[in-house]
Amino acid sequence: MDNREENRHKPHCLVLPFPIQGHINPMLQFSKRLSHKGIRITLAATKHLFKTTQQFSGSISVETISDGFDEGKADVDLDPYLARFEQVGTETLSELLDKLRDSGRPVDCVIYDPFLPWAVVVAKKHGLVGAAFFTQSSSVNSIYYNVYKGQLKVPLLDKEIAVAGLPLLEISDVPSFVRDQDSHPGSFELVLNQFRNVEEADFVFVNSFYELEEEVTDLMAKILPVKTIGPTTPSMYLDKRLTEDKDYDLSIFKPVNSCMKWLEERTNKSVIYVSFGSMAKLEGEQMEELALGLKMTNKYFLWVVRSSEESKLPKSFVQETQEKGLIVSWCPQLEVLAHDAIGCFITHCGWNSTLEALSLGVPMVAVPWWSDQSTNAKLVMDVWKMGIRARPDVKDIVGREEIVRCIKHVMEGEEGNEVRKNAKKWRELARKAVDEGGSSDRNIQEFLSTLESIAP
Ligand code: UDP
Repeated sequence: MDNREENRHKPHCLVLPFPIQGHINPMLQFSKRLSHKGIRITLAATKHLFKTTQQFSGSISVETISDGFDEGKADVDLDPYLARFEQVGTETLSELLDKLRDSGRPVDCVIYDPFLPWAVVVAKKHGLVGAAFFTQSSSVNSIYYNVYKGQLKVPLLDKEIAVAGLPLLEISDVPSFVRDQDSHPGSFELVLNQFRNVEEADFVFVNSFYELEEEVTDLMAKILPVKTIGPTTPSMYLDKRLTEDKDYDLSIFKPVNSCMKWLEERTNKSVIYVSFGSMAKLEGEQMEELALGLKMTNKYFLWVVRSSEESKLPKSFVQETQEKGLIVSWCPQLEVLAHDAIGCFITHCGWNSTLEALSLGVPMVAVPWWSDQSTNAKLVMDVWKMGIRARPDVKDIVGREEIVRCIKHVMEGEEGNEVRKNAKKWRELARKAVDEGGSSDRNIQEFLSTLESIAP
């Protein structure tokens, strides 16, 4: 059998992420998991993303499509960006599928980011399987779905919000795009539009695991073909087999790997890791309070401050804390969270960071900024009991004393015992979910069987 024929019999998925870090990472990790299971993967990156990130290596091929902004979108607002992406992307995705077919690498399934809901329409026009890949939790998907269907009315008028399968939510727990949709009109449409065309999808993947969100996942699965397939955190981190090759393909930011050496020199669970992900822009005052809180604890800390945020650090802070702290512009976060020296994670509770911390057993101090982060923070504290949510003051700033209180809560003394016990529990359950025969692995196998049954 020549190569061409061999490839023909291997199911082939085209994976299309929305080009932001928090969406690329889980879709890429999922792609790698599928690839290990014998699926051929082509990742469709926008031309600009391809040009501005590290080149790709390994078993996954990358092809490009256009979002209409090949030189970057600079200050283009979300609405016109999405409209242009839909217009140009529909055409260029279709051309890519034709090109792959004509070159003997036909695609069987398009796994698309529902921020690009037109992609499933393209997939169906080409007679392919369509799979949506949701990068938020089942709980947050369910809130958005209820708003989309008009079952949860906005603006929210009640003090407590009831959504089936979730604990009662206070207004401040609801995703910011829903609670305050007027301030984020484009984002409000974007998160609701994820459900546009979703009935055309044959699979609806969620980067979560069943044991974490049983009730709400069961409810969503009655409406849509929902399958939890996460955490997408690579097994090498879940199992602490850290000797395998690591790669950070399609990383928009360049990680400063030397922080791993610095961690090596720290004792078990002694370091506070601080990161607010790829997008958060903290108030100057918040940065200052956080910095002073870290200094007051007198503990070691590794803080990711993106270069665009650096100027907000208090003057001489770096110099004054150099014995205790290391500030980097980006780090290999999975490797950091999997390191034994990390004792706590001060996080904005982006869904990837939350799930990574849950699956790697790191207690959290939640300081949510926007989007679904406040909902994730609520669940971290009250449902999964994996951390504490810091209380902001009347100006919506988390002060230095509060930072110190929260760090002590999760890292020291009796109060944090439950959190630390749960950290072990969730880590174990996450690993089991993706291990052979686990809940997520079974869902992935079911998907693979479908693809194998239709592959020519
Ligand atoms: N991340 C990383 N290095 C850093 C900070 C973040 O690799 O220094 C990764 C992190 O592991 C996660 C993603 O970037 O996979 C951030 O996604 P998340 O949903 O947590 O937040 P967002 O950036 O979307 O706000």
